[in-house]
Order: sequence, then structure tokens, then C-alpha cells
Amino acid sequence: MNPHNVVNLLIDTVKVNLDVHLPSRVTSQEREVAQYLFETLKSFENATKFNYQEETTLDLHMSDYISSDEDTNTTDDNGVDEWTNEEGEKITHHLNQYSLEYMKAVVDFADEKDDYGKRRHTWKSIHHRFKSLPSQTYVSLFRSYLQKHGTKQQKCRSIDKVIYDKFVNAREQALPIHDLDLQRWALKTAKEVKLNDFHASHGWLINFKRRHGIVSRRITNMVTRHDIENSHVVQKSKQDFLVQYYRLLSDYNPSEIINTDQSGVEKEVHSSRTLSAIGMKKIYGIVSSKNASTHSYTIQPSISLDGKVVGPVLLCLQEVNGRMGETVKKKLFKPSNVVITCSSSGKLTSSLVAYWRDKCLIPSIGKKCLLLSDSWAGQKDEKLYDKKNCNGKEVFRLEIPKRTTSELQPLDCFYNRQIKNFIKKIYNRVALDQIPIHLYERNNIIKLVSLMHDQLSAPVFQLMVKYSWFSAGLLKQNPAPFSTVNEICFPSIVSHEQCELQACVESVFITCAHCSKKLCFQHFFISYHYHG
Ligand SMILES: [Zn+2]
Ligand SMILES: [Zn+2]
Repeated sequence: MNPHNVVNLLIDTVKVNLDVHLPSRVTSQEREVAQYLFETLKSFENATKFNYQEETTLDLHMSDYISSDEDTNTTDDNGVDEWTNEEGEKITHHLNQYSLEYMKAVVDFADEKDDYGKRRHTWKSIHHRFKSLPSQTYVSLFRSYLQKHGTKQQKCRSIDKVIYDKFVNAREQALPIHDLDLQRWALKTAKEVKLNDFHASHGWLINFKRRHGIVSRRITNMVTRHDIENSHVVQKSKQDFLVQYYRLLSDYNPSEIINTDQSGVEKEVHSSRTLSAIGMKKIYGIVSSKNASTHSYTIQPSISLDGKVVGPVLLCLQEVNGRMGETVKKKLFKPSNVVITCSSSGKLTSSLVAYWRDKCLIPSIGKKCLLLSDSWAGQKDEKLYDKKNCNGKEVFRLEIPKRTTSELQPLDCFYNRQIKNFIKKIYNRVALDQIPIHLYERNNIIKLVSLMHDQLSAPVFQLMVKYSWFSAGLLKQNPAPFSTVNEICFPSIVSHEQCELQACVESVFITCAHCSKKLCFQHFFISYHYHG
């Protein structure tokens, strides 16, 4: 890539799309921005590929920060429309001219008791002390007002504090947060403190964000790659592969053409993402796990040219010495769509390839198949695919050449990203809501992989799977339009919808790709919403 071309194009784009201002003196800020942009551009020198991600998150706008003390009162003023005052509205209105402190002082004074438990003060002495009190009835009016509204105010304050703490905590972990997250938390906290009629309305949200100086921030992340992918040799092997593939294509049904690949799921996928905005220093996330080494595992899914997810997914867990103890095995969660194995690294070994063949591939195919897999040494051995080792079935393996997988492997081109999106959603939700489960625990990893595989196997994703083949150049016809995992399972909901199960009051986490039910995290993940 030539940065000069990028700059020239950028100049043209700015001229056309932004109102051209007259030349002005260059400010030091502008110089700084230019320097940062240059650093980014420099990284494109000699890059052959790049990946652009854009995400918005709420974040603290430090310079506009307003201390929370002085404006807690705005909660109450603006919070009035949050709940309806039915009966006591008139009287409330009238009582508003008295401050809470004043009312509290009156009630405390009136309720003072002597050693025998008798009231110390008569109305006369109360009135003497608080001259502006119109009549004796105001003492009890104040008392009930304080009981109702005083606690309401306290509850509001505590909601505010809980949400703000959660927000700060999430940002410290570099988790992206959206309006809906704040509203979901607020609703949940309101329920916990029994503040009924609280709706976490749009108005509440605006106030909350203003009070705490929270703004929306766009995060762009550009990753450049400098592999020498376009070398002559690579181009040649790519061409050869495509010729061979298209020659073989007519001998097979689309359902018999299968791509399989291993994919390591590292902790980086979930909570520790590198976020960098143009003009900002890189921010690194924090991994909040006690035992990071147990985080990594390998999954191996397979997809076919007709848009199906083939057979169970192989899951290779990381276990000390590559072995699972008997007690562990007994307590192991064993879903029917996951074949579980382990190794000391959490990566596959060549002996595990035979295991994958016997448990995942062979039972899921007909008489024959064309298997596309990459050049990893562990799966190269031709004996692995001998008819006699394949239960009499004909497996023809076509190797995707070295350094071409990002372009030629269907799983790499699209499907694996869908998997990662799904897993990321689960991790983000657990981290954001501080759900008390540990996703690095064996049985939770298994459950997560099972649910992910189950959701992605839904017929609604058939076109998405086909698209993976299309974008790898292995399917001629573009199956678009199709729906992605985020669109089907995690559409951004406008209203605060509730989980559809039983009388559940939790907010929606996922829309099931199989049955379209909208489920909360508890009912999807913890209760294991599985179709099979
Ligand atoms: Zn379902
Ligand atoms: Zn629920």
C-alpha cells in the first residue's frame, strides 16, 4: 500500500465533502492531530491487508465532568416524570416549598422522647421552634412525606451510584457500553431497591449521562498486515488450488464439500481488546480472570458448500498434562453437539485429528466427501483419509495452500468471525453485568461452545454459511442478502423488552435463531436453551 495515494485521496475527499474553510493559521492541536494521523498512515506502508473495525461506546468526557454532589438534586427535579404521583400530588406540590432537611428537623424534634418514652415537646414548643409551620397536621404530613419521598430520593441516589460504578468498572476493562446497558442496569437496580414505577426512560438516561459527563465515543481500530501474501509463489499456489477445486466440484454434491478448520479461542477475543482511536494512545483492556491459562481452547467446526454446519464441533480443552482426572470426567457437561477432548496446550495434536475424523467427520457425511483443510502438518498425513480408516467412506482432501487461507478458506473468510462475535457477546454481557459465573471454567466453556454451535446451526444462517464460501471465491453466486449472527441473535432493541419465558422480568439478551424467542441471559445460558 502506498500512503501517498491514501493522502491524495484523503485531500480530494475532504475538498468534496467538507465545507472548505479559508486558510487559517495552523494551531498546535492541528499539528498534533496530523502527527497522529501520520503514525497511523505510516503503519500502512508495505501493508498488504488491513482490517477496519468501528464501534461506538459510551465513555467519560473528562473535561466536562461535573461533580455528582451538586446536581444530585437534578435527579429529583427531572426524575419526577419517572413515576406518577397519584393521590398525594397536590399535597406534595405544596410540601415542595419545604426542604427535606427542614422537614426532617421538624419531625425529629417532634418525635424526641424523654427517658420514660413520652414525647418531650408539645405542639406549642414545636411551633415556638419552627415558627413557619402553619399547623400541627404538618408534622404528620412531613413524616409521611419523608417516609415516601425521602426514601425515594435515597433509592434514586443509590441507583445512580450503582450504575455509575458499574459504568466506570466496565470502561476500565475496555468493555464497550451502550445506552441500553445503562438502562438495563438501572431497571434491574430499581427492582432490587423496590423503586416501582421507575422506567429508566430516555429522559432519565440523558440526565444520567449529563450528570456524569458521559459521551458517546467512536472507536476505530485498524490492524495492518505485512505478510508477503502477494508473492509470486503464493499467487501461483492460489491459482492452482482454484483450478483443482473447480475441476473436482462437479464430482460432488454441495452437501459433500466440506471445509474444516481449528480456531483458537483466546482470552483476547473477549475482554481484553485493543482499542485505539485515531489520535489517542492505545488502550489495552484488562483480563479479569484468576487463571488465565485455562482460558484458551480450540474449536474445530465444519461447514458445507450447501450452507450447513456439519456435525458436532470438536472442542479441545487445555488440561494439565493433557489429561482429565476421573472426577473431572464424571462431572463433565456432555452436550450432544460437542465432542470434547483435551491437550496440555489446548491446541490440537496430530493424534487428535484422527479423533476428530472418527467422532465428528465420518458420522456426519454420506459415502464420500471433498474435504478442504489448511496446510497444518498435523492433518497432512494421507493415511488419515484412507478408506479403511474412514469406515469405508471416500474422503478426498484438498489442501488450502500456505498463506492463502485468509483469502481461500471459507471459515476464515466469514464464518469464524460470526463465532467470535457470538462468544464476545456472551463474554461482554457476563463482564458488564458482573454475572456471577466464570467463563473460564470447564463446564461453562463447554456450555458456551455448545450453545454457540447450536445457534449457528440454525437454518436461518444457511445463507450466511454460503456467503462464507462465496467470499472465499469457492461459490460463484452471491447468496446475499443474508442475516448475520448479530442481526438475528442480537438485534439492538429499542424498547426494554422482557424475557419471554414464564414470568421472567429480566431484560432480553438474545433472540434464539431457532425459535425466535427472546431470552434473558439466565434463561439462555444458565438454563441452557438448546435445540439440538
Ligand atoms: Zn430457541
Ligand atoms: Zn428470563
